[in-house]
Amino acid sequence: MKVVAKKKFGQNFISDKNLITKIISILGEDKNQLIIEIGPGTGALTKKLVEKFKKVLVIEIDTDMELILKSEIQSPNLQILIQDVLKVDFKTLINDAKKNFSKISIISNMPYYITSEILFKTLQNSNNLNKAVFMMQKEVAQRVCANQGENNYNNLSVACSFFAEKKYEFTVKKQMFSPVPKVDSSIISLTFNSNKSHLVKDQEYFLVFVRKIFNNKRKTILNNLSNITNDKELSKIILKEAKINENLRPEVISLDQFIDIFNIFTKNKL
Ligand code: SAM
Repeated sequence: MKVVAKKKFGQNFISDKNLITKIISILGEDKNQLIIEIGPGTGALTKKLVEKFKKVLVIEIDTDMELILKSEIQSPNLQILIQDVLKVDFKTLINDAKKNFSKISIISNMPYYITSEILFKTLQNSNNLNKAVFMMQKEVAQRVCANQGENNYNNLSVACSFFAEKKYEFTVKKQMFSPVPKVDSSIISLTFNSNKSHLVKDQEYFLVFVRKIFNNKRKTILNNLSNITNDKELSKIILKEAKINENLRPEVISLDQFIDIFNIFTKNKL
């Protein structure tokens, strides 16, 4: 079936069978897990997913894709939800799914215009997830996978390390997509078995806090923290208690140090 890609939905399709097999293999061999695919499009990944896994729930915004998916894939393993993924109540969906599946994983060749939103939605529900396999713009993937001290280390890097073990899997050249986008892409995986999220009480607030701390990467940790506390003296006390040099930049602060700063900050706020 001939499909005209819709730019507004970030539609860049893949079709290379080897690439698809390689991406799906990252989900592992447990056939009993529920796979949630965000943005199945015409079903390039979906076709292979339903062959391998017992249940595949796809969430797609484009109503045109429903007909295509239904005509291309006749499998009892497939469930289609036509909805904007950002409006899906992930908490309820995943909690309900937990009753029938001990493992739930997410996969997506992401619509790039909402990469961060999907990433954060996944992280916020990661306590009930096994793994996420995401295709995203190479530049964003490099930020996600960056470590402390590296140039592109930012709030995404910290947030992902907070919830998951992250891995840069491989680069996908832009020519592998139709239509061909402007930049290369990457596959990353997030494994949710060794997270540090239990070390803070309010995880959502921690994510907001880290985003704000990186607001101005060129400024010191003291200046960035003071923008949050609105109190330079208090910020100095917090950093002293956390044993962190106030003149350092956020990009050299480790996840553990951010957790310390946050915990001291929230304790002082109460
Ligand atoms: N999975 C297909 C593939 O790999 O060829 C398509 C990937 S394409 C990059 C992104 C897909 O996400 C498109 O099918 C697009 O319609 C869908 N999409 C875009 N925005 C969405 C949203 N807010 N909620 C759900 N799906 C969305």
